[in-house]
Amino acid sequence: MDRGLSGAELEGFAKDFTANPTYRLAQNAVTRTSVDDLALDRGVVTGIDHSVSHLLDDWAVTDQKKSGRCWLFAGLNLLRVGAAERLGLKDFEFSQNYVMFWDKLEKANHWLEAIIETAERHVDDRTVAHLLTMPAEDGGQWNMFVALVRKHGLVPKVAMPETQSSSETYRLNRALSQALRRAARDLRSRAAAGDDAAELRELKSQVLGVVHRILSIHLGTPPERFVWQWNDKDRKFHRDGEITPQEFAQSYVTLPLDDYVCIVHDPRETSRVGQTYTVEHLGNVVGAPPVVYLNVEVDVLRSLAQQAITGGEPVWFGCDTEKMSHMELGLWDAGLYDYGSVYDADLTMSKDERLDHHETLMTHAMLFTGVDVVDGAPRRWRVENSWGGEKADKGFWTMNDSWFGEHVFEIAVRRDALPAELQDALDTEPIVLPAWDPMGALAGLDDHEAKVVHAAPTGLFIGGEWRPAEGGRRLVVEDPSTAEAIAEVADASVADGRAALDAAVDAGPAWAATPPRDRGEILRRAFELITERMDDLALLMTLEMGKPLKESAAEITYGAEFFRWFSEEAVRISGRYSVAPNGATRLLTMKQPVGPCLMITPWNFPLAMGTRKIGPAIAAGCTMVVKPASLTPLSMLALADILAEAGLPPGVLNVVTTHSTGAVMEPLIRDPRLRKLTFTGSTEVGRRLVEQSAEGLLRVSMELGGNAPFLVFADADVDAAVDGAMLAKMRNGGEACTAANRFLVHESIAAGFADKLAGRMGTLRVGRGTEEGVDVGPLVEQKQRDKVAELVTDAVASGGEVVVGGSAPDRAGWFYSPTVLNGVPQSARVFREEIFGPVAPVFTFADDDQAVAMANDTEFGLVAYVFTRDVSRAISVAERLETGMVGLNQGIVSNPAAPFGGVKASGFGREGGSEGIEEYLETKYVGLKL
Ligand code: NAP
Repeated sequence: MDRGLSGAELEGFAKDFTANPTYRLAQNAVTRTSVDDLALDRGVVTGIDHSVSHLLDDWAVTDQKKSGRCWLFAGLNLLRVGAAERLGLKDFEFSQNYVMFWDKLEKANHWLEAIIETAERHVDDRTVAHLLTMPAEDGGQWNMFVALVRKHGLVPKVAMPETQSSSETYRLNRALSQALRRAARDLRSRAAAGDDAAELRELKSQVLGVVHRILSIHLGTPPERFVWQWNDKDRKFHRDGEITPQEFAQSYVTLPLDDYVCIVHDPRETSRVGQTYTVEHLGNVVGAPPVVYLNVEVDVLRSLAQQAITGGEPVWFGCDTEKMSHMELGLWDAGLYDYGSVYDADLTMSKDERLDHHETLMTHAMLFTGVDVVDGAPRRWRVENSWGGEKADKGFWTMNDSWFGEHVFEIAVRRDALPAELQDALDTEPIVLPAWDPMGALAGLDDHEAKVVHAAPTGLFIGGEWRPAEGGRRLVVEDPSTAEAIAEVADASVADGRAALDAAVDAGPAWAATPPRDRGEILRRAFELITERMDDLALLMTLEMGKPLKESAAEITYGAEFFRWFSEEAVRISGRYSVAPNGATRLLTMKQPVGPCLMITPWNFPLAMGTRKIGPAIAAGCTMVVKPASLTPLSMLALADILAEAGLPPGVLNVVTTHSTGAVMEPLIRDPRLRKLTFTGSTEVGRRLVEQSAEGLLRVSMELGGNAPFLVFADADVDAAVDGAMLAKMRNGGEACTAANRFLVHESIAAGFADKLAGRMGTLRVGRGTEEGVDVGPLVEQKQRDKVAELVTDAVASGGEVVVGGSAPDRAGWFYSPTVLNGVPQSARVFREEIFGPVAPVFTFADDDQAVAMANDTEFGLVAYVFTRDVSRAISVAERLETGMVGLNQGIVSNPAAPFGGVKASGFGREGGSEGIEEYLETKYVGLKL
C-alpha cells in the first residue's frame, strides 16, 4: 500500500461512517454533549455504594490545593491519625508547608549533585535532558517522605501554616527552576573549564543559599524551636513548652517509620516479581536510604492493603488517578466509561502495555481508610484524598476493586506483614531503572490549566442551584489560541430561561427588603473573593477568551472594583423631602429597585461587562437573569459561584448559558414580569432588542459598539500620544468597544506618529495568552480574525500603506499581527466599521474643524481621545465631540467611579459612578397633606 493516505482510502472511511447508523447516532450525541457523559456506564453509576465493612476514618480531609504534594499529604495524613490520638484531638494536621520547605531544599541539593555527576555528558544526553526538564518538581515517593521526617522532624500546622506559594506552587517552582537551570549552566561550564569537585561544590553551596532564600521568601522560615501547648477534645489543657521539630516528631509520630517498605505491582515483562528496583537520580536527602521498592503480584498488594486496614491502620498508596475517574461522584471503576462502544474500536491495553507505551504512570498518592470485604475478598475501597472536602463524600472517594488491579501501583506497608520469602527478597540488590522510568514518577506538577477549567461550574445557575440544561444539552467552549475545545457548559432551552426568570421574580420581594448594608457586604465579600482568586480567574479567562494573563488580571481588577464601588453605593441610596411651593403638602421622593432585570453581556470582557451590571443591581435590590456570551461563559459561571459563596441568597442572580440565544431571550424580554433589560454588545443586536423591549415598555440600557477617534493635534506631545495610542488601541488586543478605531493625526506630524506607533506595535509579542512575556493573544474566533483581515485588505486596496504587520501568522489559533496602516483614505471600510482587532489606521486632518468633523462622521458615539497641550483647544474639542466619553491626553477612560456609556448608535444609559445605580432604581413620589 501507498505511504500516503490515498483518495480511495478517504472515500472508504467516509462511506463506512455514513453507512453506519450507530456511528451517526454517536456523532449526533457527541457533537452536543460530552463523550464522557455518553460513555458513562449507567450500571456502574446506579450501583454506587460508598459503605464499607471496615471503616477507619472519622476525620476531615485535607487540601493540597494547587500543588503536587499529594505524596507528602498522604504521608502526613497517615501519621496524623496516631498523633491526634496521642494529643487527644479529633482533628489534627502536621504542617505540610514545613515538610515541603525541606523537601525542596534537599531536592535542590540532590539535583545539583546529579548535575555535577553528569557534567561531562552532552547536554542532549537523555539523562541530562531529563534532569534539565524537571529541576523543581513537587512530586516524591514514600522513602523520600520518610527521609524528610527522619532528618527534619515535624511541626504542627500552626507552627508553619500554609502560604500562598505552598498552596499554589507554580511560581515558586518557576523561580527555583530558573535558579537551578542557571546553576546547571554554571556548573557544567566550570566543569568543562577544569574546576575540580571541591570547587564545583563550593559553587553548589552558594546556589543552595539562593534556593534557601527563595524558599524562605515564598514559604516562610521553618521554625528551629516552637512553643507547643493545646486544649484537647475534652478541653483539657496541655503544655510541652519549647520543643524542636525533631522532638515533636519523636513524641507524636506513633508509627515505626523505619519498618515500612514499599511494594509495587509493575507487570512489565522487564520487571521481575520478587526483585527490588530503584530509579536513578530519584530522591531528596542525599545520604538517606534510597527509593527502593519490591515488585510483587497485584494480589499481594491487595491482600496486604486489606490486612493493614482490617488491622486498624490506613495505607499510603500510589496510582494513576486520572483513569476511569468521576470527580463529582468521587468514584473510580475500571469500567466506568465505555469509550470502546462509542467509537466501535478496541482501545483496551493491559497494565504492562500501558506502562510500556506511555499510556499510564503513577500520578497521585493517597490513603486507603476503609475496605468493603465480602467472603474474605475486597469489593471496594474507601480513599482519603487531599483535594478538599467539597467533592465526593466530603472528600473521601470510592474505588471499586476492579480499578485497584488496573491502576494502583504501589503501597507502603510494614515489613513484617510480608510473607517470609518476600521479606528476604527485600534484601536483593536493587536494579537501577533510568531516571525517566514511569515507576519513578509520582505526582509531578498537576496540570494547572486543566484543574482551573475543571473547577469552574458548567451548569445553569437557577434559584441558587446548579442544574443541567433541559435534555442535558451542552455547548462547547474553545480556546481561541488552539481552536480546541476546553469545556462544555449547559445549553439552556426556552423552558430553562423561563425557570431562571421565575427564580428571579420569586426572589424579588425579599431581596428588595434586605437591608442595604447586607447587600453591600455581600458585594464587598465577593470583591474580596475575586481578588483572592485572581490568578485562577485570570487563567480561566485567558483560556476561554485568549488575551494575555496580565490583561485578564487587569480586567478582573477592573471588574471587581465595580463590586467594591457599589458595595459603598448600596448604603447611599436616598430620597428627598421638600415642602410644596404652596406650603400645603409635603413632597417625599423615594428610590426603589426596578425589579427583575435581564442582563446580556459580550465575550470581550467576560467578567467586567457582568460586574458592571450585577454590582449596581445587587446594591439597588434588584434580582436578575444574566446571559453571558456563548463564546466565553466560564468566567461568568465562576463569578456566580463566588457570589453564592459570598452569601447572595438563592434566586437573586441566575445565569443561563445558551446557543439558542435569540429563541431563549426573546420570551424573557416579552415576559411582563421583567422590568429592565440591560445589554452590552453590538449595535445590530442592540437595535433588535430595543424593538423587542418596546412591547413591555421596559427600562433599557444599551452599551453598544464604538468607532473611537483618536485625535492628535500638531501641538501634542507625540511620545505621550503614542503611549496613549498603545493603550487605547491594544488594551484587550483591540477587542474593546473603547478601542481607538481611527487615528486622526494632524498632517504635519502624521508620518512621524505612524512610524513611532509602528515601532512600538512591531515589538509586541504575539502568542498564547498563558505564555510568559506575551503582549497580544489571539482574536476570539475565526470569524473575528477573518473580518480584521478583510478590513486590512480593503484599506490597502483603497490606497493605504502597511507600515507594520498586515497579516495573520501561520499558526493554529486565531492570531493577527499588530498592524499600523498609514495614508488610509476616508472611503476605506476601517473609517466606518468597528475593527475589533490589533489594527491602527492613520488618517490626516488639516485643522481643528476638519478633525472634529471627521471624528463625528460616524453613527457611533462612545468615546474619543484627544491629545493636545492647549487647554482651550482640549475643552472646546471635547465639547464638540459627539461621544459619551472623552479621554484628554490619556488612552483609557474606563473607571468604576465614572459614568461609562455612549450616545448615538453607541447606546444609552450609564454604568459605573453614582449614575450607575440610578439605572436600577425607580423614583417614587409620595404627596403628603398635613
Ligand atoms: P453581540 O454579538 O451583540 O453579542 C453580545 C451578547 O448578545 C452575547 O451574549 C450574545 O449571545 C447576545 N445576543 C446575540 N444575539 C442575540 C439576540 N438575538 N437576542 C439576545 N441576545 C443576543 O456582540 P459581541 O460580538 O459579543 O460583542 C462585541 C460588541 O459588543 C462590539 O460591537 C462592542 O463594541 C460591543 N461592546 C460594547 C461595550 C459598551 O460598553 N458599549 C462594551 C463591550 C462590548 P451569544 O454569544 O450567544 O451570541
